[in-house]
Amino acid sequence: MKRVSILGVTGSIGANTVEVIEATGGAEVVAVTGHSNIAGLAAAARRLGAEVAVTADPARFGDLRDALSGSGIAAAAGPEALVEAASRPADWVMSAIVGAAGLAPTLAAVRAGATIALANKECLVAAGSLFLGEIERSGARLLPVDSEHNAIFQCLAGERAAQVERLILTASGGPFRNRSAEQMAAVTVAEAVAHPNWSMGQRISIDSASMFNKALEMIEAWHLFPVAPAQVEVIVHPQSIIHSMVGFADGSILAHLGPADMRVAIGHALTWPDRARLPVERLDFAALSRLDFEAPDPARFPALGLARRAMERGGVAGCVMNGAREVALDAFIAGQIGFLDMARLVESAMEALDELPAATDLTDIFAADAEARRIGRGLVPRFAA
Ligand code: NAD
Ligand code: MG
Repeated sequence: MKRVSILGVTGSIGANTVEVIEATGGAEVVAVTGHSNIAGLAAAARRLGAEVAVTADPARFGDLRDALSGSGIAAAAGPEALVEAASRPADWVMSAIVGAAGLAPTLAAVRAGATIALANKECLVAAGSLFLGEIERSGARLLPVDSEHNAIFQCLAGERAAQVERLILTASGGPFRNRSAEQMAAVTVAEAVAHPNWSMGQRISIDSASMFNKALEMIEAWHLFPVAPAQVEVIVHPQSIIHSMVGFADGSILAHLGPADMRVAIGHALTWPDRARLPVERLDFAALSRLDFEAPDPARFPALGLARRAMERGGVAGCVMNGAREVALDAFIAGQIGFLDMARLVESAMEALDELPAATDLTDIFAADAEARRIGRGLVPRFAA
């Protein structure tokens, strides 16, 4: 049986991963990790019969130990414990911690040589080529779980990199696709979280509403696949049936279609190069009847332009954009800044840190991330209502 670990088991991707593992015959579970939801973490650990459960929060160690008592499952807490758990020998590791907090544990799993099912896009956005360099050195395999990138990965099977002309990332457009800029300026957190097609964690849902999620995904695609920034396109496709497309030199386009259900991409990454029968909805084209497309509006969704700038700038620009975005997101969730202020804050932080030198090692990445957060936090009062 496959030995697997799930980093971020208490999240939306984590829960879907548990379901997929159970639906495909089970696995020997090594480590599961979480953060503040100790009851959920302990329940997942017991359900899966994990060897160890780790909370990222050292203050919650006692709670976790108590919740696991009598189970024989080891409890641990804190960032080092997270890295230790992630580096335990496993065949397959799901990287589904949200944010740059996922970078260190994912790198630990990479260095241990596991196959990495990568949901955490921040690893690539923040650490890009250094992260990929670690993958290459360790011989680990990277399988993209983000639905767009999983779709592109599937479209590229058997194709030649040199004949790829463009990657077309689809975007649902989120809950504010048809709102005016004036309306968007006043939206609440609850409205931003209410995604029309996908059920996801709070942070990625808000990022989908602002298209910061798509912005991160442009950078993610650029790192994952052999293309230049100009070859990464975004098209709004409100039905979320086409998960992304690849255009080739001969004008052919290959698309990946499926239900808007992350279990498809997770199952693909878990069983690749095989495919398992999954209990997901089957598409009914007669009922769907149409697929729509429209160009994204750069004025209402400036995050897309920021991603393009970050790719063209290179170096640590993606890391800075991501760190500032996480701070802006915290400030929006806390009610300190408005929805449209998030992109303004990120843009200001990127401008302030435009001269940061390129990273030569991961220490530089962590330093650039910390600097972006420091500058970002300093900018919050400027946009505070
Ligand atoms: P979520 O908020 O539902 O879950 C996040 C997980 O990370 C939880 O297990 C939480 O305990 C853990 N976590 C939070 N803060 C942490 C910290 N500081 N240290 C360690 N662990 C911490 O998020 P999600 O929607 O499952 O998304 C997880 C990742 O997958 C994100 O990077 C997201 O962009 C990506 N992703 C999600 C989806 C989706 O459909 N949900 C799709 C594509 C990509
Ligand atoms: Mg995605």
